[in-house]
Formats: sequence, structure tokens, C-alpha cells
Amino acid sequence: MNFKITLLPGDGIGPEVVHEATRVLDVVAKKYNHTFCFQERLMGGCSIDKYGTSLTDEALADCKSSDAVLLGAVGGPKWDDPNAKDRPERGLLALRKGLGVFANLRPVKVHPALIDSSPLKPEKLKDVDILVIRELTGGLYFGQPKMREMRDGKQYAVDTLEYFDYEIKRIMDLAFDLAKGRKKKVTSVDKANVLESSRLWRQIASNVGTANPGIQLEHTLVDTASMKLITSPASFDVIVTENMFGDILTDEASVLAGSMGMLPSASLGESAVPEKEARIGLYEPIHGSAPDIAGRGIANPVGTILSAALMLRHSFKLEDEAQLIENAVYQTIADGARTVDLGGALTTCEMTDEILKNL
Ligand code: NAD
Repeated sequence: MNFKITLLPGDGIGPEVVHEATRVLDVVAKKYNHTFCFQERLMGGCSIDKYGTSLTDEALADCKSSDAVLLGAVGGPKWDDPNAKDRPERGLLALRKGLGVFANLRPVKVHPALIDSSPLKPEKLKDVDILVIRELTGGLYFGQPKMREMRDGKQYAVDTLEYFDYEIKRIMDLAFDLAKGRKKKVTSVDKANVLESSRLWRQIASNVGTANPGIQLEHTLVDTASMKLITSPASFDVIVTENMFGDILTDEASVLAGSMGMLPSASLGESAVPEKEARIGLYEPIHGSAPDIAGRGIANPVGTILSAALMLRHSFKLEDEAQLIENAVYQTIADGARTVDLGGALTTCEMTDEILKNL
């Protein structure tokens, strides 16, 4: 099969880790007789430097015309000026909106050999296998009005937390659908004791729960959820939540796995829901551009390589190929291969070499 993949390596360690993922994809393509055509575009700080904007219309159009997008990371101190008219993160938000990817999936599994890399006690980490699904295109990050102005001589700022029923329904459908292939439990996280938008969220979650009697649904307030992620993370299966709560909880959950460098993510649109027209997925590691280690060749490439596996699974429906990559990574970690963030000494390239040996 032939697939066109747009690469957005971005800034900092982004290009280093995306390069490693393409090495893995090339080997998978050869093994299974697929063709992965890569086209590379600028996004983030590098695009601001070259074109004066974090995402050009052309780059977005190229992403839309491909089968999937693999992103490294964007940002860095060079583009941190709060008064700048464009920032790398704006490109990311525009890309998500432009591709219509409304659900961000972050699987968090703790590899038994890495339990000691996590700050949590080992007994808490046994059997942790969580899929966090964060709503990505609504809520506080996009709601209007969003502005700052002077009112009666005082500075005033407002953000708006808004959701339509259909935005909640489609992400709930996805959560329940994905729970069917897992431990059949959905935890819907909200703040329904305080927020009206959360009461709508809870109402729709309950409706979708009623339509899926084979799946256990629990409602949890976001403050309780953040506590349980640390005290009893193995009690979760699928967590589904709105944009800002998800932003915070996914970073908290990443701590369980020992290093930011280990975890992948997939951002999906309607294609994630069966029987609907296919849409493009956006795949990226959960970490940022790590300016502190950029250019040194020591970044952990695993999060990006596992993101490529998610791309094969969700956008291309190549389950065997996805599992091949995941098993190779699992085996490589079990064999003791470690980058610096995991207490080892392997370079980015050497870590990938070890994974390639296990493919
Ligand atoms: P970060 O994730 O870049 O780094 C946090 C820490 O984790 C650093 O010590 C870094 O060295 C380490 N780390 C991250 N990825 C690693 C990897 N693959 N291997 C080894 N170590 C790794 O977060 P930050 O420092 O808060 O942000 C740096 C820049 O990245 C900022 O400009 C921020 O806005 C941006 N950022 C971008 C994204 C994105 O592109 N999606 C996400 C988060 C942060």
C-alpha cells in the first residue's frame, strides 16, 4: 500500500527524533512491501524564521493532502517573547484546527523494566495501562470571547469555556469505542459541581454510557482524578476529558512512565469513529522541543517511534505493522537499552539501532 506522510520536524530535538522514526518506518515498509512517501515542511519557530509565520497556508494544505502528519515538537527560548505577533504554539493550534483533529489519544503504559525510573512507588505502578483521551479543538483554549482590555482603569482578561453537545458526543463515542478493545471502563472527568459546561459534559457522557451497556462508565471530578492518577493509577482504563483538564492530566500521567521521551500521542478526527469518512491523523511525541538537550544527539526517540506506530494503526489500519514496532520497542527496553533520560548512555541514533535490531 502507498501512503503520503507529511513530516513537520519543528524545532529543538524535533528534527532529531522525527528522523529516527522515518528510519523505523522505512524498515517496516520494506518488510511489508508498503511505500511511505515523506514530504517535509516547516512548522513552529523554524517557520517563523523563514516565512514570518508559524504555519503557512501552503504547509497546512500539504498536510491536508497527505494521509497522515508526523510532528516532532515546536518552540524554544528564541521565540518566547510574549509580545511577539506569532508564536510556535499558534502554528500547532492552527494545525489541529485545520486538520479537524478533535481527539488527542495518549496511551500511558509503564514498562516493567522502567518502574524504577518513575518517582512513584513500584507497587503503585503494577498493571498501569491507561488511555487518556483529551478533547482538542474546543473548551477554554478556543472559546470566545478571549481578550484583554482596560476596564475602569484596571487590566481585565477573559477566556471562555464553551462546548456544544455534538463536540462532547463525538469524543464520548470515540472513548466508548476504544474502551471496547480494552478493559471496558470509561472514566469521564469533569468539574460538574461548579461548571455548567461540565454538567452538559456529564449529561452527554451518561447518554452515551446508556447506549453502551457493555462498558462501565464512572464520572470523576478533575481534582479527584488528578489525585487518583498518583494514588491508584492502575484503577483507570480509558479517561476522557475536556481540553484544559486533559492538557494537565496527560502531563501528570506521563510521569508514571518514567520519562517524557517515552510517550506517543495521536490526534484524530472523524476517521477514528467507524463507518465515517477517513480523515488525516496527526501523530507526535508528548514532549516539547527540549532546548536544553537539542543538537546533542541524546534525545530519546521512543515517543516519536511509538507515535509512528499509532499512525500505522489509526490512520493506515496496519495493525500488524504497528504491533511489530511496539513489540520491538518493548523488547529493546527489556534488553536494557537506555538513553540518557532513562539513566543510560545510548545516543538517539544508537537507541534506534537497537530497536531496528528487534524489528
Ligand atoms: P520539554 O518536554 O521540551 O522538556 C522537559 C524536560 O524533558 C527537559 O529536561 C527535556 O530535556 C526533557 N525531554 C523532553 N523530551 C525528551 C526526550 N525525547 N528525550 C530526553 N529528554 C527529553 O518541555 P519544556 O522544557 O517545558 O518546553 C520546551 C519547549 O517546548 C517550549 O518552548 C515549549 O513551549 C515547547 N513545547 C512544545 C510542545 C509541542 O510541540 N507539542 C509540547 C510541550 C512543550
